Amino acid sequence: MEYDTIAAISTPMGEGAIAIVRLSGDDAVMIADKIFKAPSGKKLTEEKTHTIHYGHLIDPTTEEVVEEVMVSLMRAPKTFTREDVIEINCHGGIVSVNRVLQLVLKNGARLAEPGEFTKRAFLNCRIDLSQAEAVMDLIRAKTDRAMNVALGQMDGKLSRLIGDLRQALIETLAHVEVNIDYPEYDDVEEMTIPVLLEKCTWVRNEIAKLLQTSTQGKILREGLSTVILGRPNVGKSSLLNSLVHENKAIVTDVAGTTRDIIEEYVNVRGVPLRLVDTAGIRETEDIVERIGVERSRQVLKEADLILLVLNSAENLTEEDERLFETIKNMDFIVVVNKTDLPRKIDLEKVKELANGRPIVTTSILQEQGVIELEEAIAKTFFEGQVESSDLTYVSNARHIALLHQAKATIEDAINAAESGVPVDMIQIDVTKTWELLGEIVGDTVQESLINQLFSQFCLGK
Ligand code: GDP
Ligand code: ZN
Repeated sequence: MEYDTIAAISTPMGEGAIAIVRLSGDDAVMIADKIFKAPSGKKLTEEKTHTIHYGHLIDPTTEEVVEEVMVSLMRAPKTFTREDVIEINCHGGIVSVNRVLQLVLKNGARLAEPGEFTKRAFLNCRIDLSQAEAVMDLIRAKTDRAMNVALGQMDGKLSRLIGDLRQALIETLAHVEVNIDYPEYDDVEEMTIPVLLEKCTWVRNEIAKLLQTSTQGKILREGLSTVILGRPNVGKSSLLNSLVHENKAIVTDVAGTTRDIIEEYVNVRGVPLRLVDTAGIRETEDIVERIGVERSRQVLKEADLILLVLNSAENLTEEDERLFETIKNMDFIVVVNKTDLPRKIDLEKVKELANGRPIVTTSILQEQGVIELEEAIAKTFFEGQVESSDLTYVSNARHIALLHQAKATIEDAINAAESGVPVDMIQIDVTKTWELLGEIVGDTVQESLINQLFSQFCLGK
């Protein structure tokens, strides 16, 4: 396909040592030649593909030297967009990068829309839609583990799996067609239904398996929303600080004015913990006091994990028991803190209240037990799971929604087949499932959706 040549800054804005202005399109090399001068005087059009060249950018209208640069020349089709790509590496800093971008735009390139490079890669069939979305996930990935999921997806693992499922559905449809088209078989239903049931059940189970990974996928993508709960003075702030300091906080996110809750990300064994309301713990010691009963209920309800801190040096109080009661249906880990002091707490009673949930003993003061706590956190969420590189996680909300729909539709087909509905009715559901799965990889999506998806990307990607 043919598109105009686009350009954008493709490194994050800021004070990086090197910034890249990227061009993609048929005129990319020609535009670069207008402004680039190598010491040898050789033009980029004469150079081999996938080579890097040192030289200067010169504004052709003023003959002024704009920048000292390295230019990467990559001709189609072996590029990210499958178009000719030029990458101009220049000194970081907003002013100089912008100057280079302006020069490129003045000489024939158009400023790329957000996500347009990735969109071109998709439109030129270099990647499918789920892979394009993985690029976006990659940009936002908060831990190595999340990064691996996105990389796996970019590599096409999810696409291949979806492809296999769709293939099975197509084969089923073909089988049904053949039997319908040859009425000399005396009983079409009898010939068709068992095969149909077998294939559809297989597809259904595979979709269900994928959906099971979506919890982990969501966690990797969005962080495990974690609340530290406990009576005043049990050691919540100390635990928070210890988690934050031992695991470099990844993002400190002061949410907008409507949400006075502060979130901090820490990377615990590849699990991004989103520690919710750290300000509440830090400043007023009491989440209820800080944000009110209603709001704190809401925060608790949305949490994926509660760390309930108890004081080992004191007897369990009614308030402790009340907290157990509040979170009894949630995922929680009990942290029995201050074990350096003489123990007063009834551990048997704690065990009873924990009702099977992990109990970790700590002395945060003496830096004991925090590692065990981290292990317990990681284990709770990756129990029995192989490393993410071996498993296809589904983490994208759009994919999850489509998989749910596909699962419901194939279940309709299965139920219909089991209750003797005519085969051509069942075909409709099977076809619909095939289409829904196709939307994940972008085979059957409409243009408006594609535009909306790509506009969410960062500029220059
Ligand atoms: P919070 O009110 O639950 O946030 O509790 P803090 O973290 O503010 O801790 C209350 C007090 O307990 C502080 O003086 C801490 O130094 C102390 N503390 C925290 N953890 C331990 C521990 O493991 N052992 C002992 N002896 N004191 C601790
Ligand atoms: Zn505190």
